[in-house]
Amino acid sequence: MPVFSHASALDHDTGPEHAERPERLAAVIEALRAAFPDLDLRQAPAATRGQLLRVHDESLLQTVLESKPTGRIPLDADTVLSPGSALAALHAAGAGVAAVDLVFGGDATRAFCAVRPPGHHATRDIAMGFCLFNSIAVAAAHALDRYGLTRVSIVDFDVHHGNGTQAIFDAEPRVQYLSSHQWPLYPDTGQRSERGVGNIVNLPLPPGTGSEPFRAAWRERLLPEIDAFAPQLVLVSAGFDAHRRDPLAQLELEAADFGWLTGELVALADRHAEGRLVSMLEGGYDLQALRECSVAHLHALRASPG
Ligand SMILES: [Zn+2]
Repeated sequence: MPVFSHASALDHDTGPEHAERPERLAAVIEALRAAFPDLDLRQAPAATRGQLLRVHDESLLQTVLESKPTGRIPLDADTVLSPGSALAALHAAGAGVAAVDLVFGGDATRAFCAVRPPGHHATRDIAMGFCLFNSIAVAAAHALDRYGLTRVSIVDFDVHHGNGTQAIFDAEPRVQYLSSHQWPLYPDTGQRSERGVGNIVNLPLPPGTGSEPFRAAWRERLLPEIDAFAPQLVLVSAGFDAHRRDPLAQLELEAADFGWLTGELVALADRHAEGRLVSMLEGGYDLQALRECSVAHLHALRASPG
């Protein structure tokens, strides 16, 4: 199963004290290489302006691509633009597009994108919450336009609500967005009452939620919604910051929980989408948890028949 990444991800320099740091991606790649000696690691291309403009305003492209900072400049309290950030953001978004093309080209049914910066907080016109471009939204919009799909599910198990992804698609019935997340927590969106045009399914979880209630919530509430929607493609916003070791949140998951959920999503993709599933790294800020969770995620993605 191919993994898309790009060296530019290491040049997005958020500064010495920042949780979303280059070491995250280095840890993921190192752990995957060690766990899977046959890892099929591929170069992620850069997204094109046209691909980005499907979900972003020209003003955000200007900010990210044309600022050309000589040092680090803050876009908000959490979000930094450095000299290498534009290229990293372009390749992060391009990874998802390439992965979608791959699973529709028939060379593989599943792919993982090991990228940074993450994307799910970025709205049409605002870079926020460590995110510059909304890479999973770029991938979804590409799938709709290029392949004429009418049903794409975006499954987001990052511990934070993907406010950007929800806002981009909350009036788009061809995209289903489902999220479990700690609440209350940044960015304070994602309540159950936020339903879009019936295409948004939010499952806020209280701090302290552990494996069993997490799995039950997915089994009883979210997985049946995906099954009923019958997506032609499953996209995953794979954040691993709901792990109990994560310093930014208070859920109590183990690596095995991410492996379990990934297996359930693979089964749904097999049932409805001819196996097509593309996963993209979002958050996860404890390096040891990130290593264990990404390996558990890949184990499940690499399982037969994909
Ligand atoms: Zn997160």
